[in-house]
Amino acid sequence: MAVTEPAPAAPSAAPGRPGGRTAAKSGALEGILRRQSLRESAARTYARSLPIVPVRARGLTIEGADGRRYLDCLSGAGTLALGHNHPVVLEAIKKVLDSGAPLHVLDLATPVKDAFTTELFATLPPALAADARIQFCGPAGTDAVEAALKLVRTATGRSGLLSFTGAYHGMTAGALDASGGATDVRVTRLPYPQNYRCPFGVGGERGAELAARWTENLLDDPKSGVTTPAGMILEPVQGEGGVIPAPDAWMRRMRAVTAARSIPLIADEVQTGVGRTGAFWAVEHSGVVPDVMVLSKAIGGSLPLAVIVYRSELDAWEPGAHAGTFRGNQLAMAAGAATLAYVRENRLADRAATLGARMLGRLQGLAAAHPCIGDVRGRGLMIGVELVAPDTDDPDALAPPVDPALAVTVQRECLDRGLIVELGGRHSGVVRLLPPLTLSDEQAEAVLDRFADALAAAERAHRPGPPAYDARLRNDTGPSH
Ligand code: PMP
Repeated sequence: MAVTEPAPAAPSAAPGRPGGRTAAKSGALEGILRRQSLRESAARTYARSLPIVPVRARGLTIEGADGRRYLDCLSGAGTLALGHNHPVVLEAIKKVLDSGAPLHVLDLATPVKDAFTTELFATLPPALAADARIQFCGPAGTDAVEAALKLVRTATGRSGLLSFTGAYHGMTAGALDASGGATDVRVTRLPYPQNYRCPFGVGGERGAELAARWTENLLDDPKSGVTTPAGMILEPVQGEGGVIPAPDAWMRRMRAVTAARSIPLIADEVQTGVGRTGAFWAVEHSGVVPDVMVLSKAIGGSLPLAVIVYRSELDAWEPGAHAGTFRGNQLAMAAGAATLAYVRENRLADRAATLGARMLGRLQGLAAAHPCIGDVRGRGLMIGVELVAPDTDDPDALAPPVDPALAVTVQRECLDRGLIVELGGRHSGVVRLLPPLTLSDEQAEAVLDRFADALAAAERAHRPGPPAYDARLRNDTGPSH
């Protein structure tokens, strides 16, 4: 299938190059950035590492106020399955605007919502879709996580929750408690299997098996201090945790462990959904059918939308048990329905699987030439490159220590070359690539060329070596160079 990338909205300078940049434009940009740092909260995040002022965007490309263009591999933190301003998304939004439909309707029924729900249900694992309910939540992923936790607590009458080390589920209180960094006593944190930094020191299938056994044991040992919880929440691929795909066999084990003990399984597919990992929903890789799915980001086609879908048996809520003013975003539903249909009709999940595998292969080639790449991993177009300090001598260490400072430099060098990437992982030492699913082969090559170049520059800056060593680095930037 050929995925066509719409032409950029307006002609501009070459990506990342300052051509077309005028003194007036630069002055305006610097003014905006200065006012932002003076007026916005100290909690701002992306704005710190990506000091750009986007004014126009199409597909993979963002154009800054200074005329520079960037290849965007952050994609609104994985939201933009079709890239920026895809024509089918814009058309769907315009259609609603032109129709005179109300834009705010609380949770009333509308044709737009009806069409979105039908399209969404058509994509769900059939065993769930056959008997599913949907709750439209307040607009962020974290709102839907809160709803899921509340739903299973109401349905089971229990309060405890199982979640995993390294998890990220959002920033509101309940979602934060379920995330890796929190300490809520109602939440029991279990080991998430990791190959590269396996908590049991073995990695692979054996590591995942030990992680599963620990979970089982905790639930069955009457003296473990863990009572039967209201639910288990997991990400099929941990995103913010450092792009760690869960092995399929482990996913099936978690399904079996929870089913045998009547513990609802909640799959947080906020980031992994809508084709991102090479299947429409990441749970499809393992064939697991969860009891609850938490969906946001790409389902709104770039606008805010979040829902949970769940087995009707769990629908123990009284009317009004979960409410919220902004549950009826008509533009997001229209944009989302168009996105879901486009991904399904154009088999973009398959495309993500093929292209993602190719990109991983090339990154692995790069890793072979650059010891500072400790690990390359991912699924589909959710890719992570873990940067490490390889020279550190610790014979007992499973893997060299992560190198967050190098990761920051790589991110900055990428930006200088017109490539936007995000950092993730426990210590922010993982460079993350989340390009749109519409990425063309040529664009993928351009992204990897820029990344390879940025990596070599960052490495030189961090570990200056003799000229011969530098020359070798420049030549070894991956198989396609
Ligand atoms: N769950 C997962 C898996 C996520 O990756 C995120 C956001 N990165 C969230 C929940 C929270 O979504 P939001 O930022 O929209 O609240």
